Amino acid sequence: MAIIRCIVCSKRISNKAETCMHCGAIMKGSSEEQLERAAHLQKLKKNRRIQSFSFLAILAFVLGFFLYYFKPSDGIWRQVSIYLLAIGFIGYIVSRAWILYNKKK
Ligand SMILES: [Zn+2]
Repeated sequence: MAIIRCIVCSKRISNKAETCMHCGAIMKGSSEEQLERAAHLQKLKKNRRIQSFSFLAILAFVLGFFLYYFKPSDGIWRQVSIYLLAIGFIGYIVSRAWILYNKKK
């Protein structure tokens, strides 16, 4: 028994495994083309997840921006708006870095 990498999710699995225990890809009896298609789909799904994360970050940032400018300048709303701005900004940077990292792989 040897350890190989799943062609779909690239996690470690046994070469005797019939399906990948991480992503459920069927190893036995699948053609190269089928596995590649599954890998592509997996990547698309991941990208979509990152994109929705990125979208949420932008939404938080915009919301924070509006709160900052249109609510009274003291009290809880000012704090909430600053948190939202920070979360949105950091979230956006993280999602961009994530996308770059995924492209390299
Ligand atoms: Zn897998």
